Amino acid sequence: MQPPFYDFKADDGANLGGIGAVIGHELTHGFDDEGRQFDAQGNLHDWWTAEDNKAFDERAKCLVDEYNGFVAVDDVHLNGKLTLGENTADNGGLRLAHMALEQSLKGKTPQNIDGYTPEQRLFLGWGQIWCQNLTDQIARLQALTNEHSLGRFRVNGVVQNMPEFQKAFSCKAGQPMVSQKPCHVW
Ligand SMILES: [Zn+2]
Repeated sequence: MQPPFYDFKADDGANLGGIGAVIGHELTHGFDDEGRQFDAQGNLHDWWTAEDNKAFDERAKCLVDEYNGFVAVDDVHLNGKLTLGENTADNGGLRLAHMALEQSLKGKTPQNIDGYTPEQRLFLGWGQIWCQNLTDQIARLQALTNEHSLGRFRVNGVVQNMPEFQKAFSCKAGQPMVSQKPCHVW
């Protein structure tokens, strides 16, 4: 538990955007396209209603299509199916972290730090944990083989789906960080 994931001297916004969202990510894996196939005893058993199965598949397809559209380098796109579980966990995890932040702020007067609101710092924290510098060669390799999306899309792919992000940074419809078709599995 070290920066940038967790810093005992940092505020809730930054820490929830880091380790908080990662904990939310891991919890969400239990209900992603793979985890959801296991029941409470850990057995491979379909425990969902037909209606819920259908709704899940529709929501998951939104993420598959969205991430298929992201370009890693040149003509190489991310693989929305390969990365679906991780993207579901990223999207659900950051939303859980945002809910936790709102809970922690209840009854308090939010304090800006370095000119940023707690909500803005949550999203900055999320950006900082996936900050990376890749050569085109490694970006290409990872896009084709890694079940995690490239860092840039772990950040931008998630926040463009979140009205919470748009509110925090006053983004308007049609701007680059506002998805025209936001996906929401959890
Ligand atoms: Zn994961």
